[in-house]
Amino acid sequence: MSNEMDQLRNQLDEVNLEILELINNRAALVQQIGQVKSKQSMYRFDPIREREMLNLITSKNNGPFENSTIEHIFKEIFKAGLELQEDDHRKALLVSRKKKADNTVVEIKGEKVGDGNTHFVFGPCAVESYEQTAAVGKVLQSKGLKLLRGGAFKPRTSPYDFQGLGIEGLQILRRVADEYDLAVISEIVNPAHIEQAIEYLDVIQIGARNMQNFELLKAAGEVDKPVLLKRGLSATISEFINAAEYIMSRGNGNIILCERGIRTYETATRNTLDISAVPVLKQETHLPVMVDVTHSTGRRDLLLPTAKAAIAIGADGVMAEVHPDPAVALSDSAQQMDIPTFDKFFEEITDLDRRLR
Ligand code: PEP
Ligand code: MN
Repeated sequence: MSNEMDQLRNQLDEVNLEILELINNRAALVQQIGQVKSKQSMYRFDPIREREMLNLITSKNNGPFENSTIEHIFKEIFKAGLELQEDDHRKALLVSRKKKADNTVVEIKGEKVGDGNTHFVFGPCAVESYEQTAAVGKVLQSKGLKLLRGGAFKPRTSPYDFQGLGIEGLQILRRVADEYDLAVISEIVNPAHIEQAIEYLDVIQIGARNMQNFELLKAAGEVDKPVLLKRGLSATISEFINAAEYIMSRGNGNIILCERGIRTYETATRNTLDISAVPVLKQETHLPVMVDVTHSTGRRDLLLPTAKAAIAIGADGVMAEVHPDPAVALSDSAQQMDIPTFDKFFEEITDLDRRLR
């Protein structure tokens, strides 16, 4: 009995290898046809030809498989062949899971974003002064946190609003980060600023308004600094992924994606947090995904519930704005947390995190 079984299994292995050889022979032919087609600028997908091939195959089918099963199997083979004819990048983006199955882990000052734990980025909307930034830095250090955010170049809706302190803002961030053992995350809006800015930065943030600033994406892709890329105001997930591809295609694979809400018809919140974008991005790409609860909601009372949702759905991190005195903040005063609110927020969110992980 077991001898007979062994023999049958051996035969099965041989047949498998024959099939393997045959489908690869087929693939080589498909590639040659693809080359001829591209010389003649013909469409690669030819449904009439596929139908003819399937008809021929099923007309010769003597079973035991049903024609429908045979068609299904051959269609998969055809599809794989078509993908071979397409160019490599169309087939699988560098940022895609298809290209790389393992999670990318972005290391920033010992924080390994993407390692399965929750990482937090806090700090003011904009850097306004050393004292204001240091007040937040001190609180972060007291909680064992490492990632400090703050805008030095602020892309504001109105040109008359505070535009940020520029390089001076980055210098303040660097000083505070060094004093409180933190890493700096700050937005850059101009490709020409990148080289100078990376002296002060640990992570380059590319903001929602610049997600499709392709020159900025390329410039960020050419330096050796992690990039936190935010989703555009009205960007589809596919556009978001392609924006990340711009960075990675230039050689920089240290990218963190950040969902920060999209524009919809809803007015109860500043933007609509697309929470399901998190698992979609995690499935489609190998990059870590964070959720910015401040800009997605624009409401202080929604920071905690949305941060909980982010962690529960599998985000790699949460970003929120913290300011020592939000009432006098030069931007986003309605949604930044003051320090006591932040203390409570952090206590509750870390408690949930512990229970979920
Ligand atoms: C920010 O994080 O400072 C910011 C401006 O956010 P966004 O680009 O998502 O609007
Ligand atoms: Mn802000």
